[in-house]
Amino acid sequence: MDKITIVVPCYNEEEVIDLFYPAVREHVDKIPDCTFDYVFVNDGSRDGTLDKLRALSAAHDDVSYLSLSRNFGKESAMMAGIDYAGGDAVIIMDADLQHPPEAIAEMVKWWREGYDDVCGKRVDRAGETWLKRTCANIFYAVMKKFSTSYEMQRDVGDFRLLDRRCIEALKLLRENQRFTKGLFTWLGYRKKEIPFEVQPRAAGTTTWNYLALFNLAMKGMTSFTTAPLRLMTFLGITVSFGAMAYMIFVVAMAILYGDPVAGYPTLMTVMLFLGGMQLLALGIIGEYLGQIFHESKRRPIYLVDEMDGKPMIYTPSITPPERNTRYRN
Ligand code: UDP
Ligand code: MG
Repeated sequence: MDKITIVVPCYNEEEVIDLFYPAVREHVDKIPDCTFDYVFVNDGSRDGTLDKLRALSAAHDDVSYLSLSRNFGKESAMMAGIDYAGGDAVIIMDADLQHPPEAIAEMVKWWREGYDDVCGKRVDRAGETWLKRTCANIFYAVMKKFSTSYEMQRDVGDFRLLDRRCIEALKLLRENQRFTKGLFTWLGYRKKEIPFEVQPRAAGTTTWNYLALFNLAMKGMTSFTTAPLRLMTFLGITVSFGAMAYMIFVVAMAILYGDPVAGYPTLMTVMLFLGGMQLLALGIIGEYLGQIFHESKRRPIYLVDEMDGKPMIYTPSITPPERNTRYRN
């Protein structure tokens, strides 16, 4: 009998939680030789999410919940759920039913065939705006070009099934600035992508906006590649050579023809260009410095306020050491 834990991060999802549980149950109850349990993570919601979760876990034995001390963001909320998930495998799903529960059966099938990381790959970005699609394209192109050691999976999000050994490995990566999608790629192991169509939100509203997505993309780049720093070095070298060539040209013109090259427009252009380049380079260095700043404090990724009705105190180590030596059967 396999045991699978479904981890669900929830932020202001009071409208969907009561829809989510029966919808998922309907599909997973049909999967043979497998029991499911649920870890909901209340990520500091401001609405009635926590009350809904309390009621749901009181009504169903297979449901437990964690409530974080404030809103830590989806990446941290997922990690909290993963830390507390007990199954042989873990499935991460959004609460809003955008990830279709009918895909779970297929995920379990591939897992049983020996895949460690079965990820949902969204087949259509058609429902999204042109701008969002273009931004995604640029992001993947840049990441692909620059991260040499491993390739970021395209259109693959957090909807996935992870074997226990991926989970234990993921628990070792306690970085603060989490870009979970990249972390899954970093882990490696045997991956299988299964296509799924993103459903419209069951209810409620999305918390993502362009600024949040831009921040996530920046985080993704700065935590997985230092290539932009290298790029700035090359750019610096190129510009210096260009400047040198131009200087020789100006001197030559003056000596040979007595022609003092027209000053103001050239000066202005060069100055602004260099100023812009310097600010850009500083900005990029700053991004990395910011990452170091956040990581160097070594703060925990999240704090749990309440678990299954009981107030919690922060416990530094969640991984029982014996787990690390388990073999996959
Ligand atoms: N979420 C979270 N913390 C946050 C923001 C979102 O736990 O700070 C959860 C949210 O409840 C949902 C999932 O992350 O289950 C995806 O969020 P959302 O549906 O808003 O994003 P989208 O599907 O539009 O990318
Ligand atoms: Mg959603």
